[in-house]
Amino acid sequence: MDELTVKNITKKYSKNAAPALKNFDYAFSNGVYGLLGPNGAGKSTLMNIIVGNLAASEGEVFYRGADIRTLGEAYRSILGYMPQQQQLYEGFTIKRFLYYFAALKGLSKKEANERIAELLHVVGLYEFADRHLKTLSGGMKQRVLLAQALLNDPEVLILDEPTAGLDPRERMNIRNYIYSIAEKKTILIATHVISDVEQIAKEVIFLRSGEIVLSGTPEQVAQEIGPFIWEVDVLKEDYRRVNEMYPSNRVAGERDGLVSVKVISEKRPELPEVRSAAVGLEDVYMYLYPNERR
Ligand code: ADP
Ligand code: MG
Repeated sequence: MDELTVKNITKKYSKNAAPALKNFDYAFSNGVYGLLGPNGAGKSTLMNIIVGNLAASEGEVFYRGADIRTLGEAYRSILGYMPQQQQLYEGFTIKRFLYYFAALKGLSKKEANERIAELLHVVGLYEFADRHLKTLSGGMKQRVLLAQALLNDPEVLILDEPTAGLDPRERMNIRNYIYSIAEKKTILIATHVISDVEQIAKEVIFLRSGEIVLSGTPEQVAQEIGPFIWEVDVLKEDYRRVNEMYPSNRVAGERDGLVSVKVISEKRPELPEVRSAAVGLEDVYMYLYPNERR
């Protein structure tokens, strides 16, 4: 069953500006959805509209069939939102910040005690609970914001670049945790870090200039781009030449003096013994956003 339906959303921030989001249409059920795209693609705009912070110029968002504008508090109580920017409440300690939000979300004192202790363990901040937010690293703040979003055990969880500033282990911990709770929740993760969603997303949505350019299961989108991804083994000293001929490439490995190169090209590259290659989301991203190549 669809939990969240985004119906034909268009957002223009001003009359003459190009729309930040154009006819965005998507149905979300339980599971993890990756919202991918470079800066400016419209990811945060979409999230702000879904959580009700921003009014769309056109279109509606439905939660279980009801327009979110008619739901008010009932919608907020099933919603968790981790915004992209992190400032605010710098003078609060982690604990005070979380208790404050727990109260806003209507948790009883007892519920808050249990939930906050649990979440502080989950995000690895238990021993830092009395530190002030202004003294925390970016990664720690990011984890406090994630804990905040999870306080009410939300059914719909909206995470805007949740792993920005995290180190690889923190990233993995957060990813694993999100996966562990995803079965009974609808989780939308905006990111430009493919590895955040590669293994855990049920579906991925690639946005460019406010429009969906490709979406589906990771397998489906990989299959779609498959015909344009090639692999070739060249002598190490020849790599520079390949790189000049096909700037859209990446080194995929090295063995016995040979370099494996993945080349993105709509036409079969004119290189000896070129073969088609296994495709990952990283390749899909490189294919879809050619302006970012090199
Ligand atoms: P992303 O999160 O993918 O980086 P955003 O949703 O933040 O993308 O931005 C999409 C587009 O909307 C960009 O062109 C951005 O400059 C513009 N935009 C975002 N927020 C505002 C705003 N408050 N006022 C005007 N334009 C905005
Ligand atoms: Mg953003």
